[in-house]
Amino acid sequence: MFENNYQDIELTCSDCNSTFVFSAEEQEFYAEKGFASPKRCPACRANRKKQRNSSRKRYPAKCSKCGCDTTVPFRPREDKEIYCTDCYAAMKAQQQEQEQAPVVETEETLVQQEQ
Ligand SMILES: [Zn+2]
Ligand SMILES: [Zn+2]
Repeated sequence: MFENNYQDIELTCSDCNSTFVFSAEEQEFYAEKGFASPKRCPACRANRKKQRNSSRKRYPAKCSKCGCDTTVPFRPREDKEIYCTDCYAAMKAQQQEQEQAPVVETEETLVQQEQ
């Protein structure tokens, strides 16, 4: 039987040039999935992932509250209210203020939740 004797190796990140450990476990995982060895350290990989997510397509929309131009990460619908970042933050703050009022759970609502 062939043994997968992987050993931790050090690779150099192609983005920040720092070395990082490509562990035996990861090597096995990558080999299983048929992936090539990583070119970037975990931090740079996470960064790139974040960048990809933030550059995801956004749709232009008009804020229902102040009427300014904004973008949303989903296709705006005519029947849905769209808020710009400022109005959204203001609305959220207002909501939180309201939520600070004690919420009384009646037996009725609890029963409904269980169903
Ligand atoms: Zn890096
Ligand atoms: Zn607004």
